[in-house]
Amino acid sequence: MTRLVCEDRLTFLSGRHKSLLNEHFSKPLQTAQPRELAIKLGIEYSQVIAILAVLAADGYCRNWLLIYHNCSETFVDRVPLREGMPKLPYVCPYCEVTIYNYDELKLDVMAETEISVEFV
Ligand SMILES: [Zn+2]
Repeated sequence: MTRLVCEDRLTFLSGRHKSLLNEHFSKPLQTAQPRELAIKLGIEYSQVIAILAVLAADGYCRNWLLIYHNCSETFVDRVPLREGMPKLPYVCPYCEVTIYNYDELKLDVMAETEISVEFV
């Protein structure tokens, strides 16, 4: 268990938010997607991105870029977020269609923790 000190970095987090986050990240190897976490906590998508950025900055999680294609309900690929957008043309690893335009892909972010984290 490691402690993430929010202090002046995540001032919008209430005690209730922190306890929900602690519940979510109480076990190692947790994943979090911004949309789901935003709904769970009742906060904005951008605020969740801020939480994930702080987690990554402190070295507590790895952030992935999830790549969605219309051939699948779930993501077809994931790359480390720091590598940025996938290069075009991009071949969907699921249906093997070649994609020439980012409009054909949907992207999202996912955080993955390795150890349990407590927000204080
Ligand atoms: Zn595909």
